[in-house]
Amino acid sequence: MIKLPQEVNGLMDAFKKNKFQIYVVGGAVRDMLLDPSTSLRTSSKKEMELDWDFTTNATPEQILKMFPDAFYNNVYGTVTVPIKNKQSNNETMKQFLFEITPFRTESNYSDSRHPKKIEWAKTVDEDLSRRDFTINAIAYDGKNIIDPYGGQKDLSNRLIKAVGDPDIRFNEDALRLLRAVRFTSQLGFLIEDATRDSIQKNAGLITKISWERIRDEFLKILGGDHPSEGVLFLKNTGLLSYILPEVDVCFAIPQKSPKRHHVYDVGTHLVMALKHCPSSDPITRFATLIHDIGKAKTFYKDEKTDLITFYNHEVVGKKQAEKIAERLKLSNKQKDKLITLVAEHQYTVSEDQTDKAIRRFIRSVTKEYLQDMLDLRTGDRIGSGAKPTSWRNELFKKRLEEVQKQPFQIKDLKINGNDVMKLLKIKPGPQVGSILKKLFEKVSKGKIKNEKQDLLDQITTIN
Ligand code: ATP
Ligand code: MG
Repeated sequence: MIKLPQEVNGLMDAFKKNKFQIYVVGGAVRDMLLDPSTSLRTSSKKEMELDWDFTTNATPEQILKMFPDAFYNNVYGTVTVPIKNKQSNNETMKQFLFEITPFRTESNYSDSRHPKKIEWAKTVDEDLSRRDFTINAIAYDGKNIIDPYGGQKDLSNRLIKAVGDPDIRFNEDALRLLRAVRFTSQLGFLIEDATRDSIQKNAGLITKISWERIRDEFLKILGGDHPSEGVLFLKNTGLLSYILPEVDVCFAIPQKSPKRHHVYDVGTHLVMALKHCPSSDPITRFATLIHDIGKAKTFYKDEKTDLITFYNHEVVGKKQAEKIAERLKLSNKQKDKLITLVAEHQYTVSEDQTDKAIRRFIRSVTKEYLQDMLDLRTGDRIGSGAKPTSWRNELFKKRLEEVQKQPFQIKDLKINGNDVMKLLKIKPGPQVGSILKKLFEKVSKGKIKNEKQDLLDQITTIN
């Protein structure tokens, strides 16, 4: 028997006391059956992002009567009950979100997007029949497991298999095409043959889905434990050509060339880089996956020498990254990060670099994304068949730290000699330097702030 958290039992008991049927369904049952020793959905690591789904024969109104704190505000009839998590001592994770949806069926899909009408169902079996994959169509009432579609068998075989006829199910709702791939990345499962063939056959239906919903699933694919497998499924089923054609075409771009270290075509290199990128951040992984897309447009092969080059591919790639970020409706913050990482990925690592050059590099990448930039490079290196690092690379990282530790200098002031000359209407000369020096001393001693206006205000008094 699966042990449920106290809060879940409490919620289910309230239904049972009122003579209603109530079942845990979806991801929570799936995760508990996969790993009964730890209930993933109560561990502090995951509970923030993972919800508990229930299904019941109670109506939304009846649920609201039992839980006055609950809210009910969507067309699917889902009632959300917030309940305090007693086991959690972390302030930010103190509640479970329980989502309770009355038994329902879905019928009359006309646009591969949403059902034209939703009808309530009478039994849990009927409710399970509308769910996407067998591993998601298992219900648990605290004692018995209801598994009409062989979900437990597929869990042990590690397979994602559509409930019913896959062609019909994907035509009903094309988001399921991406959900299947998302579960390959999150769970490390394969897709059952007929389901996979059907995804390939119906891949074009994805164009009916909004980019916001595609983005959400795609970022979950990137954020899973097996993102490169997920991307290969996208590639092999044809979905990638709709979502990221810029990456799709890279699989046809060779880069083996005399005296070059590359062992893979550009597309395979990108997937391998993603596989080995040590960051778990979906946007850093995204940037790693697309860092070389500019190579498809800049490919040049010299007929005489057979040498292949991709001049300025990072400049072209930056423009493409901007388009991709727009298309996938990333937030401004996500956009900025994705584009910066792609634009800067060609940075050189050399023992001859000056501190100034290293400082310039930090300024263009920004301190905030510095570790992400290094993680992209690690993926890039391993994904090219190189060792994870080199002595040059290690030296560079050390220098990055040292440069950042260097004490505050005159040139770090928020104003410069030009500001001084302009304000005092004077020409270049020792007076300018001496004023800057005095300002610097004042800022170092904490007497004034290093803010442009504060500094300008001081200039006349110092002079
Ligand atoms: P997780 O919560 O870990 O992301 P999940 O399987 O619970 O995974 P949800 O999106 O929370 O996924 O959906 C809950 C359940 O609702 C699913 O397990 C599935 O049974 C059903 N479901 C969700 N989306 C669909 C869909 N597009 N078509 C059919 N069933 C769906
Ligand atoms: Mg869920």
